[in-house]
Amino acid sequence: MLAPYAVAHSLGRRHPEPSHAYRNDFQRDRDRVIHSRAFRRLEAKTQVFTRRYSDHFRNRLTHTIEVAQISRTIAAQLGLNVDLVEALALVHDIGHPPFGHAGEKALDSAMRLHGLSFDHNLHALRIVEDFEQRYAGFRGLNLTVEVREGIIKHSRDYDAAEYPELTEYVLESRPPLEAQLIDATDEIAYTTADLDDGFEARLLTLDQIKDAVPVFARFLGDVETVYPDATKKLQFNEVLRRILDRWIGDLIGNTQAEIHRARPSITTLEDIRACPDRLVRLSSEIEKERRGTKQFLYQNLYFSPALESEKDDAERVITALFDLWMKHPEKLPTSYQEKAGAEPLARVICDYIAGMTDNFIYEQYDRNCGTS
Ligand code: MG
Repeated sequence: MLAPYAVAHSLGRRHPEPSHAYRNDFQRDRDRVIHSRAFRRLEAKTQVFTRRYSDHFRNRLTHTIEVAQISRTIAAQLGLNVDLVEALALVHDIGHPPFGHAGEKALDSAMRLHGLSFDHNLHALRIVEDFEQRYAGFRGLNLTVEVREGIIKHSRDYDAAEYPELTEYVLESRPPLEAQLIDATDEIAYTTADLDDGFEARLLTLDQIKDAVPVFARFLGDVETVYPDATKKLQFNEVLRRILDRWIGDLIGNTQAEIHRARPSITTLEDIRACPDRLVRLSSEIEKERRGTKQFLYQNLYFSPALESEKDDAERVITALFDLWMKHPEKLPTSYQEKAGAEPLARVICDYIAGMTDNFIYEQYDRNCGTS
């Protein structure tokens, strides 16, 4: 049952295509994303931990699957279009460069020296619009306008004056709830997952988390009462699933309340678009809890000395390759050399690097700049 303000159907694709016999437009977009090369490469891109730590930590692909799973559950409860939500969740990180956040920062810094910048949402749009080549009739994946809009608008607002190339996505209006949901889910998914991987990597201890994250301490008390003999790891898991459940339950309940509060002015998708604020959000109490947890992760995990060498690698490897190709564009693959005729060389190099997996960029570094 779709809510009256959900996205009921697509307004179309850039290149019109006949409808499919048994898949709707958003199901087809989901499938096109899953079958893309950029999607497969997420498997070898760092989320937070590189392979140096363990093979069973999250990477960009498994993170993406977790976001899709949580998003589908919430979307169904809110009466949103589950197929659109799933397509948006699966595509949401497709524009991320190698080396996680550190890679994004290093690539952006390299671009700024040439008066340009790197933004993973804009890069994702270039991937699905241009770089993916699977179909004889058009470049890119020819995704629906709703999925392309969601790629741009799910996590932040872009200023129409600064991004004239994005005019078709009506930057002054809010995205549908389906797109708004992705950002909220992303935050919940990685905050809980990073606690999990950080604990598993022994970079975070139970006591350390308990002392700094009140909701964790509270649930740990409950779990120790119910399962006093369980191992620390199982107790940790039980706490984490309670936190995840609490935050997801709150996101569903609070979003319903926000929509209700905004009534009667919100009954249609157009009302959602015209609304001054995004409506998918946690209650202020839980938002505070989530922020506190995220801050704990920043202080104790993301900026911990243990992850420092990964960050140094990201900067060193990306900067060295970027500089090398700026000076010697003839060392780029032929297809990229040809692109440099139509676009600034820095943009072409950026696109090439952003598409690389962690493994591939190390190989390139070893081959071109000596051993890493
Ligand atoms: Mg993400």
